[in-house]
Amino acid sequence: MSVQKLYKIGPAYAKKLQSLGIKTARDLLFYFPFRYDDFSDITKIADVEIDQIATIQGQVVEARNIRTFKKRMALTEAIIEDDSGAIKAVWFNQPFLTTTLRTGATVNLSGKVSFSKNELVFSNPAYEVVGYNNLKNYTHTGRLVPVYHEIYGLSSRWLRFHIKPLLIFAKKIEEFLPSEIIKSHDLLSCSLAIKEIHFPENMEIAEEAKRRFAFEEIFLIQLWNFLQRGKWQNNESLKIHFQEKLIKEFVVSLPFRLTDSQRKAAWQILRDLEKSAPMNRLLEGDVGSGKTIVAIIAVLEVVSQGMQAAIMAPTEILAEQHYNTFLEYLSVQGGKNYRIALLTGSKSLLNGEKISRNEVLSKARAGEVDIVIGTHALIQGKVVFNNLALAVVDEQHRFGVEQRARLLKTITSLKDGIPDKIPHLLSMTATPIPRTLALTIFGDLDISLLTEMPKGRKKIITSIVPPAGRRDIYYFAADEIKKGRQIFVICPLIEDSDILEVKSATTEFEKLRKIFPRFKIGLLHGRLKPKEKEEIMLKFKNKETDVLVSTSVVEVGIDIPNATVMMIEGADRFGLAQLHQFRGRVGRSEYQSHCFLFTDSQAKKTHQRLNALIKCENGFELAEKDLKIRGPGEVYGIRQSGMPDLAMANLSNIKLISETRKAAKEIFEKDPLLRNYPRLKERLKEFARNIHLE
Ligand code: ADP
Ligand code: MG
Repeated sequence: MSVQKLYKIGPAYAKKLQSLGIKTARDLLFYFPFRYDDFSDITKIADVEIDQIATIQGQVVEARNIRTFKKRMALTEAIIEDDSGAIKAVWFNQPFLTTTLRTGATVNLSGKVSFSKNELVFSNPAYEVVGYNNLKNYTHTGRLVPVYHEIYGLSSRWLRFHIKPLLIFAKKIEEFLPSEIIKSHDLLSCSLAIKEIHFPENMEIAEEAKRRFAFEEIFLIQLWNFLQRGKWQNNESLKIHFQEKLIKEFVVSLPFRLTDSQRKAAWQILRDLEKSAPMNRLLEGDVGSGKTIVAIIAVLEVVSQGMQAAIMAPTEILAEQHYNTFLEYLSVQGGKNYRIALLTGSKSLLNGEKISRNEVLSKARAGEVDIVIGTHALIQGKVVFNNLALAVVDEQHRFGVEQRARLLKTITSLKDGIPDKIPHLLSMTATPIPRTLALTIFGDLDISLLTEMPKGRKKIITSIVPPAGRRDIYYFAADEIKKGRQIFVICPLIEDSDILEVKSATTEFEKLRKIFPRFKIGLLHGRLKPKEKEEIMLKFKNKETDVLVSTSVVEVGIDIPNATVMMIEGADRFGLAQLHQFRGRVGRSEYQSHCFLFTDSQAKKTHQRLNALIKCENGFELAEKDLKIRGPGEVYGIRQSGMPDLAMANLSNIKLISETRKAAKEIFEKDPLLRNYPRLKERLKEFARNIHLE
């Protein structure tokens, strides 16, 4: 039923409701409060105290509208009395109140009491006329009162007034959670939970109601993950035998020793490749932890057996960087020559020679090229391979939550060369996502972690710079440039405003041009076309510029060993993990690198937070800290994904996550197609659509 058909909701309110995503009476029932005002204790007027929240019940002695002299505001004043005494209440700009608060009427007032002109006063309290129809069953006072996220013209009071009468329909809402899950996890039924989340008897039951809905949301995500995983594993991939001798020789020939986590990750991947069910693995490790070489090992295993591999990167520069790295390590290996191609919007190369884009495509189709490296144009259905056995997606977080799902589909459809085989998939990311969170948002993937950095890296010296220290840092930076080094400057994060961010970066750029008139400075921001961005990055990489000023959008994976100074303006605005990512862009050479965190803030909390960065060099630890301080929505950009609030608030709730995972697994194993759970299946579809999983 559309909300507009409900009592006293006309088109104007319906429109407002729609802006909150509420279209039907059912939607309104599912619009949950985010907190409660505890107005449950009714006290005698004589016991009311200054600066306390109180609820009283009494009779209206009088109520009248007056105008304040100075501010010309409409003021409603009422006197309420009970058998212990009387108290004044005032409201601003609500002159219609006098018709509600009629002399002699019994009313409840709930709110804060202050002391003004020698008397106690309720100012702008919640009010409610008590009558035979609501005795002990109050809505706005005298109970735990739900408070909703409001928008202009749609108050919590309005929402309470309209939601409460709908609660009788809550019974009609069908339960979609399997009864065995409700039972074994001791959950409230949907209808009871609806009632109790809006108008709870007490805080305990309100929590229970919230738990039910949080459970349901995360359960759905988990179940979706299991189904996705099941679907993916029902596909068939090429089995790739472990080439022990070749891989061992390759590893020994490297100019460095693999770290233990690199070995372990490579081992996990090689094991996956031996199966006919396709791999779907995420390789997660800090910037600089050496993910590329792990991918190279997997690719070598594949191409050594005459099969093809594709590598996708989010930008052209990164793709080209990989192309060069792959050429360096793999063009001649184990006595074979491999054919490695680069395919981006602006370039196509084969083993260092220019060839046309079409030639790359036809060679891929004919199996005359072993490795194709490119931007994500690669997976847009244009490239057909002869026998693609492995696809690697670098910096996969750059492809976004939504694109990830699409990616799987696209790759699956890339089967023209071999009708029923799909490639094994390896995704890589430098976003250190804590395990609990990864189990939910990447629950359909297997995860390998690189938890350590290669040995012998120089520590990056990190320091907090207050305004007074700025000059010294500029002198220091100038010295570094004179020594031939390069510098990154990251501008403050300005949330939700691309334009302001660009403006601040431009201002910073102009400022630095004055400070360093003799150096060459580049400017990078989100408003530039991809091509322009690439050019600016390339100039920096080729040392044509000394300083790169950038907004926070700057590419993560790019390797610029010659950069030794990372300056971050407004550092307090960034999350720790993000700061850590920026810092990871320097310290890649034999030179000592520095990271300077500029901040004007003197708040102790800010300094504590930034100090954590000085002490800690582990991205995972910092991510855990971030998660605690700022919550998952902020940290991982999940907020934009349409993830429901309760699920979001619980993404770091380890207990709930393992509980829901267990429940989802149970259902999935029992009935992988949800044949016996039609309502659950329906709900899951709707849910996946809403949070853009599909
Ligand atoms: P990321 O994980 O950020 O993608 P890369 O794969 O680009 O990191 O590696 C960063 C640098 O570290 C590269 O120059 C690479 O050659 C080097 N490297 C990788 N593994 C090791 C290792 N085990 N020991 C020393 N250097 C390594
Ligand atoms: Mg990388």
